[in-house]
Amino acid sequence: MIVEYVYRFRLYPDKEQEHFLNIQFGHCRFVYNKLLEISKKEFEEQGIKWNYYEYKKKLPQLKEEYPFLKEANSQSLQESVKNLDRAYKNFFKGEAGFPKFKKKKSNQTVHIPQHFVIERVSKKRGLLKIPKLKTPLPLKMHRDIKGEIRSISITKTPDSRYYLNVLTKREIQPLKPTNKTVGIDVGIKEFATVYDGENTHHIENPKYLQKSERRLIKLQRQLSRKQKGSKNWEKARQKVAKQHQKIVNQRKDFLHKVSAAITKQYDAIVVESLNIKGMIQNNKLSKQIADVSWYEFMRMLEYKAKWYGRQIIKADRFYTSSKTCNVCGYKNNQLTLSVRKWQCPVCKTQHDRDENASKNLYQIGFTHLTGGRVGTTRAKACEAGSVGGTGDNSQSTRHPAVKQEARCFNSE
Ligand SMILES: [Zn+2]
Repeated sequence: MIVEYVYRFRLYPDKEQEHFLNIQFGHCRFVYNKLLEISKKEFEEQGIKWNYYEYKKKLPQLKEEYPFLKEANSQSLQESVKNLDRAYKNFFKGEAGFPKFKKKKSNQTVHIPQHFVIERVSKKRGLLKIPKLKTPLPLKMHRDIKGEIRSISITKTPDSRYYLNVLTKREIQPLKPTNKTVGIDVGIKEFATVYDGENTHHIENPKYLQKSERRLIKLQRQLSRKQKGSKNWEKARQKVAKQHQKIVNQRKDFLHKVSAAITKQYDAIVVESLNIKGMIQNNKLSKQIADVSWYEFMRMLEYKAKWYGRQIIKADRFYTSSKTCNVCGYKNNQLTLSVRKWQCPVCKTQHDRDENASKNLYQIGFTHLTGGRVGTTRAKACEAGSVGGTGDNSQSTRHPAVKQEARCFNSE
């Protein structure tokens, strides 16, 4: 399977290079915002909807009017025009809100035209040469780039770090079937509890991440006490942004490892559906952080499953995996969120809340894939459609908790 794959490397520009990059970011942002300003006015006053060629025609005029724009790569500026066009198209299609002006303090990305060179100079270091910049930019190159490079871009994060994004097309081979299923229950205190038919594993949130999150909460509390707009407020705001970015990076790293390990080991991965509405409504920070992790984790699991020929099964949002006894099926409606352990009044089994949930999710996958019969392969289950088992007995084998839209990710 040919997939788009992005490599990300940290760049270490010196003062002069940083200045050059900031000019690129600034000019691209300037073009974007200027064209947005003009087109917004025409749209609001006369209902004129620009198309791509109209934006493109405006670019040389802007360069005439603002000669400093010549310092930037013209193709990078053109890319800003394309981005604005895309933002408008999404708005007209009703898929996004009205395009917003770009701010200096958010993530900024600039597209680099074709004439670049990425060169490895040692085991860990590389150099990037780009047009108009006299000296090559050093980068940390922790892995080799496989596949064909399509384009590159440079991102500046709010905490003033620079990253090189290398977009490639590369071939990924599906993994061999393992005939194993896993149920994953995610939590707040622990990242997840997984059950694979034999063993239960508890996946803890890494200590360094917990520490960073506690610090973020502290910093946010400090920020809220400062007077908005004051010097101290600005200082505190920068600290929050930096800590936030740190967590984003640490979390990504952790989630990549977990999602890779899971897709490697299991053919079928059963998860609970995300409750987006519940996510937004919840005000508790710890819950919000857990939800962000879960959302990101799902995104990674989904694309990795697609790459490697694995299947993701989503349990229905209303399926009560924690409240149902995995042994006898009794539903404990009295179970509240704070109760971690309970005993089933019918079969007397002692339950750990999360372990019980992961076992129920596992059961969904097992029933779904095999129709109750051991040994049915993943490929067969997929041929029969996304839900419903092996075809011949699809109605009877569908687990009641499997969501209709459960998707079959098969890469062939
Ligand atoms: Zn029971």
